[in-house]
Order: sequence, then C-alpha cells, then structure tokens
Amino acid sequence: MAQLSTEVYWHSTEPTEVGPPLDGDASCDVCIVGAGYTGLWAAHFLKQAEPGMSVRVVEAKFAGEGASGMNAGFVQMTAGKVLRRMLWYYGAEKAGGVYRAVARSILEIGRFCRQNGIDAQYENTGILQVATDTKQLARLELQIKRAQRAGVTSFRLLDREQAQERIGSPTVLGALKVSGALLNPYRLVRGLARVVQEQGVLLHEQTPAQTIEKVDGKWRITTPHGTITANEVIVATEAMQGAFPELYARQMPVWNYLLVTEPLTDEQLGRVPWPGREGVANSLSFSTAARLTADNRVLWAGGLWYMFGNRDTDPRHRRNDDAFDKLGASFREFFPQWRDVRFSHGNGGLISWSHSFIPQFGRTDSGMVYGHGYTGSGIAASHTGGKILRDLVLRRKTEFTELAFVTVNQPKFLPAPFGDKGGEFFIWRQRVGDRLPLLLPYKSALAPNRFFARRTGSPERATAGRSSD
Ligand SMILES: Cc1cc2nc3c(=O)[nH]c(=O)nc-3n(C[C@H](O)[C@H](O)[C@H](O)COP(=O)(O)OP(=O)(O)OC[C@H]3O[C@@H](n4cnc5c(N)ncnc54)[C@H](O)[C@@H]3O)c2cc1C
Repeated sequence: MAQLSTEVYWHSTEPTEVGPPLDGDASCDVCIVGAGYTGLWAAHFLKQAEPGMSVRVVEAKFAGEGASGMNAGFVQMTAGKVLRRMLWYYGAEKAGGVYRAVARSILEIGRFCRQNGIDAQYENTGILQVATDTKQLARLELQIKRAQRAGVTSFRLLDREQAQERIGSPTVLGALKVSGALLNPYRLVRGLARVVQEQGVLLHEQTPAQTIEKVDGKWRITTPHGTITANEVIVATEAMQGAFPELYARQMPVWNYLLVTEPLTDEQLGRVPWPGREGVANSLSFSTAARLTADNRVLWAGGLWYMFGNRDTDPRHRRNDDAFDKLGASFREFFPQWRDVRFSHGNGGLISWSHSFIPQFGRTDSGMVYGHGYTGSGIAASHTGGKILRDLVLRRKTEFTELAFVTVNQPKFLPAPFGDKGGEFFIWRQRVGDRLPLLLPYKSALAPNRFFARRTGSPERATAGRSSD
C-alpha cells in the first residue's frame, strides 16, 4: 500500500499547537507523567475535588501523541473476553462493579464534551459485536450468559437477517448490540488538555520524564531542562511504563494497526446498509472493528498484535506493511461491496497489555501511583481510571478504589526475553484458535474464581501507600 500516508488521520481534523517545555526547576503537590486520557482525566478529577491543589503534567511530546490521539474511537466497555476473565478470576460482583462504572463513563464522556464545548463528534450509536463464523456465534451466546451473571440482562442476539439489516456485510451470521459510542479520539484528548489547563493545571509538553526517584520523602522527576519536586507522582505513560523499573513487569507493549479510507461517495455509501452507523467489531480473539468517521470514511482497525522483540516501542513500527496488507484483505472480505475503495491513511500504535487483560491501578511499594494496561479498550476505562487515580492520591477509600481494577492481584510478565516469548506464544495460540472455528470456547462457568478471589489485595493497602499486587 505505497500510497498510504502514515500521518494519523485524526491529527488532520484538529490543529496542534504544541506548548512549551518545562524550563527550570519547579515544585507541586502532584506531578503526572504522560498527557493521554489517563493522565489528563486524573488531573481533571483532582482539580475538581481539590481546586487549591497544584498539579503539573509532563508530556514527552504533545498531549494526545500516544494511543489517545490515534485510536479507533470506540467508547466501549472492556470487550467480551475481558468480562470472561473478570468472572473467571474474580466473580460476578467485582465484574459487575467494573461494568457499571465503565458504562457510566461512556455517558459521562459525552456529557463532558457537551459541557466543555469539545466537538469530539461523539455519537451514542452503540456497538454491534458481530460473528462471522460459528465459533464467534458461540462466543456471543456465552457473552450473553456471562453478562447475565454480572447483572446485565438487556443483551439480545440478532439473527443473521436482523444483523445484516444493521450492517450489510454478507459475512455476518449474528450480532449483539452493546452499549458504546464513537468519537474523534484526538479532539477528545486535545479538548481535555485545554479544559485541565483552564482548571489551573500546568501542562509541560515536549518534556519527557527521564527519571522518577524518591528523595527525602518527596518525588523528584527529572526532565531535560528542569526538575519537578512533588508530594505525589502518577505515572500514566501506558505502554511506555516499562521505562520505570518498578512498572516494567506489570504490562507488555504490543503494536496494533488501523487503516482509514478516502471519504466515501454517496454511491459507495449506498452499497452497504449501515443505518445506525454503529461501531462494528467481530468476535475473534484479535478483533477487527469498523466505523464511519464524521466525513464518511471507513476506519478499519485491529487484527493481530505485533511484537518486535525486547519490548520494542520504537516509533518506526508505526508503519507496518504486513499489518496494512492483512487489514486491507480482511476489509475486502468483510465489505466485498467496497473492493474499489482506497485507503488514504494507515498507522500503528502501542497497546499496553496487562497479563489479565484487566486495567491496573495502584501504588508501588515506593508509593508511586500508576494506571495502565487497558489492553486495547482504554477510552471509557481511563475516565473511570481518572477517578481511581484521584482517590488513590487523596488516600480516600471510595467505590472507585474498591473496583477490580485496583483491588485484584495482577500477575506480572517475566522479564525479556522470556516474557516476550510467552507473549508471542500467546498471540500464536489465539491466532490458531481463531482459525479453527469448530473448536468451541471453553466454559467460564467451570472457572475456579473462588481460588482467585482469595488472592484479592486489600484496598486499604493501595490507598495507604503500598502495592496492590
Ligand atoms: C490502534 C489502536 C486502536 C485503539 N482503539 C481503541 C478504541 O477504539 N477504543 C478504546 O477504548 N481504546 C482503543 N485503543 C486503546 C486506547 O487508545 C488506550 O487504551 C488509551 O489511549 C490509553 O490512554 P493513556 O493516557 O493511558 O496512554 P497514551 O495515550 O499512550 O498516553 C501516554 C502518554 O505518555 C507520554 N509519555 C510516554 N513516556 C513519557 C515520559 N517518559 N515522560 C513524559 N511523557 C511520556 C506519551 O507521549 C503519551 O502521550 C486503541 C489503541 C490502539 C493502539
């Protein structure tokens, strides 16, 4: 796909004025490292709770430079496989708690945009989870049962005909409509950055944190042109958390890709019934997702995760012709009516994969507060996460610090190269599983969640300055 631009499509929808770097030494109550959704929601909720608190955010490049500015824009619950894992590890009550909190975030993000004049093109369309083979159909049926166990009873499976009326792909065999919205991710993160600065947060762009150390009971964050001394530090660098030794083993960076077509003509749009303009995602382990943008391009995202050895996060991997070719082929299979449609943009970004697929929030042994590990579904969860981080910093025990994202024990990854090999094996195994559609998924009902529930960490430990792991 030689004609592809690797500029992030969303960046072309919003001008970027990059703010100045930190120049000189400074101090504050809370220093947040990373200006994606996680860091910025934490800053927003902290200032809302404690307007007098001094908060600084240091960002290596510019707000939204990471996954927050380039993702597919599905504001969604954690995906079906995550619900399976949450039920499997921690039982219905904890899983239900997370589902309710993130569902609230889906709506609150829309309200936040409206109240703050952010034109993030938020559309409360819902998401169609579709099946394109019998194994995926079985997964959807299981997901309905799992949702019922977590207290969600509104799910209904659409049969082939009903599903194809919602999304005109001949490959679709059934669908499940779940809550969710679509938005322009870059406009959300840039708007959020503006709002937090209006709240009094100091945002230092072009300011990478080089080291984070505790010196005489305070945090010292070193950057190229100055040092920040802070009472509390939140590390919100998602897939780059590995740069800080205490966080290295808690998540694994993996690459994922998306393509964006040229704007469709009315004639092209008319070929595929898609009356509700929902986000659409298939139910493979490495799900592929489709959506329309405000200017009627199709964004086609997901598929296989890529690892390049030694947890390689080098930006050169944003271009990956193998991933683009595979995505292009799966697009033409899903939408044969659009074989002639050309892609204009393609790029990749980093996903922070947590071992359990469940986002992680807490404090390390030294007292560093962290939030990461969205495993590809971070828009809504990071909004919930911002409230968790606020309460961890304020050392309050609340409904948010009680969520499974905080209170459960999280397995860690082995160091490279063993952890990476394990990750590659997992990707291979899932891929093979997706290609053997007659193998049914195993039943979560057999899972020993009582055993895992016993490993649950105490929320007091997390709020009192100790690791939740
Ligand atoms: C291709 C792709 C598609 C996706 N699609 C969706 C989707 O449709 N729906 C969904 O919910 N999620 C999606 N995601 C995931 C979602 O984008 C992320 O979970 C979310 O953006 C994470 O936000 P964050 O703030 O934690 O991390 P990021 O947005 O990555 O922000 C971290 C920030 O930290 C900065 N940083 C890194 N190191 C340093 C340092 N040393 N000092 C200072 N700053 C530093 C980075 O520059 C970056 O700006 C997708 C991800 C990818 C890659």
